[in-house]
Amino acid sequence: MALVSTKQILEEARNKGYGVGAYNVNNMEQIQAIMTAAKETQSPVIIQASRGALKYSSFTYLESLMKAAVIENPDIPVAVHLDHGNSLESVVKAINLGFSSVMIDGSLLEDGKTASTYDYNVNVTCSVVKYAHAKGVSVEAEIGTLGGSEDGVGSGKINLTDPKEARRFVSETGIDSLAIAIGTSHGAYKFKGSANLAFDVLKKIRSLIDIPIVLHGASSVPKELTDEVNKYGGRMPAGATGVPISSLQEAIKLGVSKINVDTDGRLAITATIRKVFAEAPEKFDPRDYLGLARTVLTNLIITKMKDFGTAGHAKDYSPISLEDMKKQYASKY
Ligand SMILES: [Zn+2]
Repeated sequence: MALVSTKQILEEARNKGYGVGAYNVNNMEQIQAIMTAAKETQSPVIIQASRGALKYSSFTYLESLMKAAVIENPDIPVAVHLDHGNSLESVVKAINLGFSSVMIDGSLLEDGKTASTYDYNVNVTCSVVKYAHAKGVSVEAEIGTLGGSEDGVGSGKINLTDPKEARRFVSETGIDSLAIAIGTSHGAYKFKGSANLAFDVLKKIRSLIDIPIVLHGASSVPKELTDEVNKYGGRMPAGATGVPISSLQEAIKLGVSKINVDTDGRLAITATIRKVFAEAPEKFDPRDYLGLARTVLTNLIITKMKDFGTAGHAKDYSPISLEDMKKQYASKY
Protein backbone atom coordinates (compact mmCIF):
# COMPACT_ATOMS: atom_id res chain seq x y z
CA MET A 1 0.00 0.00 0.00
CA ALA A 2 1.30 3.42 -0.84
CA LEU A 3 -0.72 5.67 1.43
CA VAL A 4 1.64 8.54 2.18
CA SER A 5 1.53 11.96 3.77
CA THR A 6 1.29 15.08 1.63
CA LYS A 7 4.52 16.14 3.36
CA GLN A 8 6.45 13.49 1.43
CA ILE A 9 4.61 14.02 -1.87
CA LEU A 10 5.06 17.80 -1.74
CA GLU A 11 8.66 17.85 -0.57
CA GLU A 12 9.58 15.51 -3.43
CA ALA A 13 7.70 17.78 -5.84
CA ARG A 14 9.34 20.92 -4.48
CA ASN A 15 12.82 19.40 -4.71
CA LYS A 16 12.28 18.38 -8.33
CA GLY A 17 10.36 21.51 -9.34
CA TYR A 18 7.00 20.09 -10.39
CA GLY A 19 3.45 20.58 -9.08
CA VAL A 20 0.98 18.02 -7.75
CA GLY A 21 -2.74 18.44 -8.29
CA ALA A 22 -5.09 17.84 -5.38
CA TYR A 23 -8.40 16.74 -6.84
CA ASN A 24 -11.67 16.90 -4.91
CA VAL A 25 -13.79 13.77 -4.69
CA ASN A 26 -17.40 13.08 -3.74
CA ASN A 27 -18.21 9.77 -5.39
CA MET A 28 -16.85 6.60 -6.98
CA GLU A 29 -16.60 7.89 -10.54
CA GLN A 30 -14.48 10.89 -9.52
CA ILE A 31 -12.13 8.72 -7.48
CA GLN A 32 -11.76 6.19 -10.28
CA ALA A 33 -11.11 8.93 -12.84
CA ILE A 34 -8.33 10.44 -10.73
CA MET A 35 -6.68 7.08 -10.04
CA THR A 36 -6.88 5.96 -13.68
CA ALA A 37 -5.22 9.23 -14.69
CA ALA A 38 -2.53 8.79 -12.03
CA LYS A 39 -1.84 5.24 -13.14
CA GLU A 40 -1.78 6.10 -16.82
CA THR A 41 0.64 8.99 -16.33
CA GLN A 42 2.52 7.41 -13.38
CA SER A 43 1.86 10.40 -11.16
CA PRO A 44 1.83 10.74 -7.38
CA VAL A 45 -1.56 12.10 -6.42
CA ILE A 46 -3.55 13.82 -3.66
CA ILE A 47 -7.24 12.98 -3.42
CA GLN A 48 -9.06 15.36 -1.15
CA ALA A 49 -12.48 15.50 0.45
CA SER A 50 -14.14 18.60 1.82
CA ARG A 51 -16.34 18.48 4.89
CA GLY A 52 -19.26 18.83 2.48
CA ALA A 53 -18.11 15.74 0.56
CA LEU A 54 -17.81 13.69 3.74
CA LYS A 55 -21.28 14.74 4.82
CA TYR A 56 -22.73 14.04 1.35
CA SER A 57 -21.35 10.50 1.44
CA SER A 58 -22.17 9.81 5.13
CA PHE A 59 -18.42 9.61 5.82
CA THR A 60 -17.99 5.82 5.60
CA TYR A 61 -18.85 5.53 1.90
CA LEU A 62 -16.22 8.05 0.84
CA GLU A 63 -13.74 6.69 3.36
CA SER A 64 -14.06 3.21 1.86
CA LEU A 65 -13.78 4.52 -1.71
CA MET A 66 -10.62 6.47 -0.87
CA LYS A 67 -9.16 3.37 0.76
CA ALA A 68 -10.05 1.38 -2.37
CA ALA A 69 -8.07 3.89 -4.44
CA VAL A 70 -4.98 3.13 -2.36
CA ILE A 71 -5.49 -0.67 -2.38
CA GLU A 72 -6.08 -0.77 -6.15
CA ASN A 73 -2.94 1.24 -6.92
CA PRO A 74 -0.09 -0.09 -4.80
CA ASP A 75 2.54 1.51 -7.07
CA ILE A 76 1.17 5.05 -6.90
CA PRO A 77 1.94 7.30 -3.91
CA VAL A 78 -1.50 8.50 -2.76
CA ALA A 79 -2.28 11.02 -0.04
CA VAL A 80 -5.83 11.13 1.29
CA HIS A 81 -6.40 14.71 2.43
CA LEU A 82 -9.09 16.65 4.31
CA ASP A 83 -9.77 19.93 2.51
CA HIS A 84 -10.66 22.97 4.66
CA GLY A 85 -10.97 21.39 8.11
CA ASN A 86 -12.62 24.05 10.29
CA SER A 87 -11.83 22.83 13.80
CA LEU A 88 -9.71 20.35 15.74
CA GLU A 89 -12.84 18.22 15.95
CA SER A 90 -13.25 17.91 12.15
CA VAL A 91 -9.55 17.06 11.82
CA VAL A 92 -9.74 14.37 14.51
CA LYS A 93 -12.69 12.85 12.69
CA ALA A 94 -10.78 12.70 9.39
CA ILE A 95 -7.67 11.22 11.00
CA ASN A 96 -9.79 8.56 12.68
CA LEU A 97 -11.21 7.72 9.24
CA GLY A 98 -7.65 7.05 8.03
CA PHE A 99 -6.75 10.30 6.23
CA SER A 100 -3.00 10.77 5.83
CA SER A 101 -3.13 14.54 5.60
CA VAL A 102 -5.36 17.35 6.82
CA MET A 103 -5.91 21.02 6.22
CA ILE A 104 -6.93 23.29 9.05
CA ASP A 105 -8.22 26.56 7.67
CA GLY A 106 -7.89 28.92 10.63
CA SER A 107 -7.90 31.94 8.32
CA LEU A 108 -11.67 31.67 8.79
CA LEU A 109 -13.67 31.08 11.96
CA GLU A 110 -15.38 27.73 12.51
CA ASP A 111 -18.35 28.85 10.37
CA GLY A 112 -16.00 28.74 7.36
CA LYS A 113 -17.15 32.22 6.32
CA THR A 114 -15.90 34.87 8.73
CA ALA A 115 -12.28 36.01 8.50
CA SER A 116 -10.47 35.27 11.79
CA THR A 117 -7.56 36.93 13.57
CA TYR A 118 -3.90 35.95 13.33
CA ASP A 119 -3.90 34.72 16.95
CA TYR A 120 -7.00 32.59 16.41
CA ASN A 121 -5.35 31.02 13.36
CA VAL A 122 -2.12 30.24 15.24
CA ASN A 123 -4.00 28.72 18.18
CA VAL A 124 -6.26 26.38 16.22
CA THR A 125 -3.43 25.42 13.83
CA CYS A 126 -1.07 24.57 16.71
CA SER A 127 -3.67 22.31 18.31
CA VAL A 128 -4.14 20.47 15.00
CA VAL A 129 -0.39 20.12 14.37
CA LYS A 130 0.12 18.60 17.80
CA TYR A 131 -2.67 16.05 17.30
CA ALA A 132 -1.89 15.19 13.65
CA HIS A 133 1.89 14.87 13.92
CA ALA A 134 1.49 12.44 16.82
CA LYS A 135 -0.34 10.20 14.31
CA GLY A 136 2.16 10.74 11.48
CA VAL A 137 -0.34 12.90 9.57
CA SER A 138 0.80 16.06 7.81
CA VAL A 139 -0.87 19.46 8.16
CA GLU A 140 -1.65 22.24 5.69
CA ALA A 141 -2.80 25.60 7.01
CA GLU A 142 -3.74 28.89 5.40
CA ILE A 143 -2.90 32.50 5.87
CA GLY A 144 -4.64 35.25 3.93
CA THR A 145 -8.10 34.68 2.41
CA LEU A 146 -9.28 33.76 -1.08
CA GLY A 147 -12.14 35.26 -3.02
CA GLY A 148 -15.35 33.43 -3.91
CA SER A 149 -16.83 30.52 -2.04
CA GLU A 150 -17.38 26.83 -2.70
CA ASP A 151 -18.93 24.12 -0.57
CA GLY A 152 -19.90 26.87 1.90
CA VAL A 153 -16.25 27.80 2.48
CA GLY A 154 -14.94 31.30 1.95
CA SER A 155 -15.39 34.85 3.20
CA GLY A 156 -15.69 36.03 -0.42
CA LYS A 157 -13.06 38.69 0.19
CA ILE A 158 -9.53 38.51 -1.16
CA ASN A 159 -6.95 39.36 1.45
CA LEU A 160 -3.48 38.70 0.04
CA THR A 161 -1.01 36.85 2.25
CA ASP A 162 1.49 39.10 4.01
CA PRO A 163 4.89 37.43 3.41
CA LYS A 164 6.35 38.40 6.80
CA GLU A 165 3.26 37.20 8.61
CA ALA A 166 3.55 33.93 6.63
CA ARG A 167 7.10 33.43 7.88
CA ARG A 168 6.07 34.07 11.47
CA PHE A 169 3.05 31.77 11.09
CA VAL A 170 5.13 28.89 9.74
CA SER A 171 7.67 29.13 12.56
CA GLU A 172 5.01 29.50 15.27
CA THR A 173 2.90 26.53 14.12
CA GLY A 174 5.30 23.91 12.70
CA ILE A 175 2.96 23.14 9.75
CA ASP A 176 4.08 21.08 6.73
CA SER A 177 2.63 23.19 3.91
CA LEU A 178 1.08 26.64 3.60
CA ALA A 179 -1.89 27.74 1.51
CA ILE A 180 -1.48 31.33 0.42
CA ALA A 181 -3.72 33.98 -1.12
CA ILE A 182 -2.21 35.60 -4.22
CA GLY A 183 -5.45 36.55 -5.97
CA THR A 184 -7.19 33.23 -6.71
CA SER A 185 -10.80 32.49 -5.76
CA HIS A 186 -12.89 29.40 -5.16
CA GLY A 187 -15.61 28.59 -7.69
CA ALA A 188 -16.05 29.30 -11.40
CA TYR A 189 -15.86 33.12 -11.27
CA LYS A 190 -12.34 33.93 -10.24
CA PHE A 191 -11.51 37.21 -11.97
CA LYS A 192 -13.45 40.29 -13.05
CA GLY A 193 -10.96 41.29 -15.74
CA SER A 194 -7.84 39.43 -16.76
CA ALA A 195 -6.49 36.70 -14.52
CA ASN A 196 -3.71 38.38 -12.60
CA LEU A 197 -1.89 36.57 -9.83
CA ALA A 198 0.37 38.43 -7.43
CA PHE A 199 3.61 36.70 -8.44
CA ASP A 200 5.67 39.32 -6.59
CA VAL A 201 3.97 38.27 -3.33
CA LEU A 202 4.57 34.59 -4.15
CA LYS A 203 8.27 35.28 -4.78
CA LYS A 204 8.61 37.13 -1.50
CA ILE A 205 6.86 34.34 0.43
CA ARG A 206 9.04 31.69 -1.25
CA SER A 207 12.17 33.57 -0.18
CA LEU A 208 10.99 33.68 3.45
CA ILE A 209 9.61 30.17 4.08
CA ASP A 210 11.02 26.76 3.28
CA ILE A 211 7.95 24.50 3.29
CA PRO A 212 5.81 23.62 0.24
CA ILE A 213 3.30 26.25 -0.89
CA VAL A 214 -0.32 25.47 -1.79
CA LEU A 215 -2.59 27.27 -4.24
CA HIS A 216 -6.34 26.96 -3.69
CA GLY A 217 -8.96 28.02 -6.22
CA ALA A 218 -6.66 27.01 -9.07
CA SER A 219 -9.07 25.56 -11.63
CA SER A 220 -8.65 26.90 -15.16
CA VAL A 221 -12.40 27.01 -15.98
CA PRO A 222 -11.79 26.25 -19.69
CA LYS A 223 -14.14 28.14 -22.00
CA GLU A 224 -14.84 25.02 -24.05
CA LEU A 225 -16.31 23.38 -20.93
CA THR A 226 -18.52 26.31 -19.89
CA ASP A 227 -19.60 26.68 -23.55
CA GLU A 228 -20.46 22.98 -23.66
CA VAL A 229 -22.50 23.24 -20.44
CA ASN A 230 -24.44 26.17 -21.92
CA LYS A 231 -24.81 24.56 -25.36
CA TYR A 232 -26.72 21.67 -23.81
CA GLY A 233 -29.10 23.73 -21.70
CA GLY A 234 -26.92 24.87 -18.79
CA ARG A 235 -26.88 28.41 -17.52
CA MET A 236 -23.37 29.44 -16.55
CA PRO A 237 -23.46 33.26 -16.57
CA ALA A 238 -20.92 34.97 -18.81
CA GLY A 239 -17.70 35.84 -17.07
CA ALA A 240 -16.77 32.43 -15.72
CA THR A 241 -12.98 32.59 -15.63
CA GLY A 242 -10.18 30.60 -14.04
CA VAL A 243 -6.42 30.56 -13.77
CA PRO A 244 -4.80 29.90 -17.16
CA ILE A 245 -2.49 26.91 -17.26
CA SER A 246 0.44 29.20 -18.18
CA SER A 247 -0.07 31.11 -14.89
CA LEU A 248 -0.15 27.85 -12.95
CA GLN A 249 3.07 26.74 -14.62
CA GLU A 250 4.64 30.07 -13.71
CA ALA A 251 3.42 29.63 -10.11
CA ILE A 252 4.97 26.13 -10.00
CA LYS A 253 8.25 27.58 -11.24
CA LEU A 254 8.11 30.18 -8.47
CA GLY A 255 7.55 27.58 -5.76
CA VAL A 256 3.93 26.36 -5.65
CA SER A 257 3.85 22.59 -5.07
CA LYS A 258 0.15 21.73 -4.49
CA ILE A 259 -2.55 22.92 -6.85
CA ASN A 260 -6.18 22.47 -5.80
CA VAL A 261 -8.60 21.59 -8.58
CA ASP A 262 -12.32 21.11 -8.01
CA THR A 263 -14.36 23.33 -10.34
CA ASP A 264 -12.89 21.96 -13.60
CA GLY A 265 -13.92 18.43 -12.65
CA ARG A 266 -17.44 19.61 -11.84
CA LEU A 267 -17.68 21.33 -15.23
CA ALA A 268 -16.40 18.29 -17.15
CA ILE A 269 -18.94 16.00 -15.47
CA THR A 270 -21.86 18.41 -15.93
CA ALA A 271 -21.03 19.13 -19.58
CA THR A 272 -20.82 15.42 -20.38
CA ILE A 273 -24.05 14.45 -18.66
CA ARG A 274 -25.94 17.36 -20.24
CA LYS A 275 -24.67 16.30 -23.67
CA VAL A 276 -25.83 12.70 -23.24
CA PHE A 277 -29.26 13.83 -22.03
CA ALA A 278 -29.62 16.23 -24.97
CA GLU A 279 -28.32 13.93 -27.68
CA ALA A 280 -29.64 10.58 -26.48
CA PRO A 281 -32.84 11.26 -24.50
CA GLU A 282 -33.80 7.60 -24.77
CA LYS A 283 -30.96 6.58 -22.43
CA PHE A 284 -31.86 5.90 -18.83
CA ASP A 285 -29.06 3.64 -17.57
CA PRO A 286 -26.93 5.81 -15.21
CA ARG A 287 -23.82 4.00 -16.45
CA ASP A 288 -24.36 5.52 -19.90
CA TYR A 289 -23.75 9.04 -18.64
CA LEU A 290 -21.81 8.52 -15.39
CA GLY A 291 -19.40 6.20 -17.21
CA LEU A 292 -18.84 8.70 -19.99
CA ALA A 293 -18.42 11.52 -17.46
CA ARG A 294 -15.78 9.38 -15.73
CA THR A 295 -13.86 8.99 -19.01
CA VAL A 296 -14.01 12.72 -19.78
CA LEU A 297 -12.83 13.54 -16.23
CA THR A 298 -9.98 11.03 -16.55
CA ASN A 299 -8.76 12.77 -19.71
CA LEU A 300 -9.02 16.21 -18.08
CA ILE A 301 -6.87 15.05 -15.17
CA ILE A 302 -4.34 13.32 -17.43
CA THR A 303 -3.84 16.68 -19.15
CA LYS A 304 -3.39 18.42 -15.80
CA MET A 305 -0.87 15.85 -14.59
CA LYS A 306 1.16 16.47 -17.73
CA ASP A 307 0.76 20.26 -17.53
CA PHE A 308 1.78 20.41 -13.85
CA GLY A 309 4.81 18.17 -14.53
CA THR A 310 3.56 15.43 -12.16
CA ALA A 311 3.57 12.75 -14.87
CA GLY A 312 6.34 10.16 -14.60
CA HIS A 313 7.22 10.81 -10.96
CA ALA A 314 5.30 7.99 -9.24
CA LYS A 315 8.32 5.77 -8.81
CA ASP A 316 10.93 8.40 -7.90
CA TYR A 317 10.88 7.52 -4.21
CA SER A 318 9.92 4.83 -1.75
CA PRO A 319 6.81 5.65 0.23
CA ILE A 320 7.26 6.57 3.90
CA SER A 321 4.53 4.97 6.01
CA LEU A 322 2.56 7.01 8.54
CA GLU A 323 4.22 4.91 11.27
CA ASP A 324 7.64 6.14 10.10
CA MET A 325 6.33 9.69 9.70
CA LYS A 326 5.25 9.50 13.34
CA LYS A 327 8.84 8.73 14.34
CA GLN A 328 10.16 11.54 12.12
CA TYR A 329 7.82 14.04 13.75
CA ALA A 330 8.56 12.73 17.26
CA SER A 331 12.28 13.31 16.75
CA LYS A 332 11.51 16.96 15.86
CA TYR A 333 9.99 17.76 19.24
ZN1 LIG B 1 -9.75 25.84 -0.89
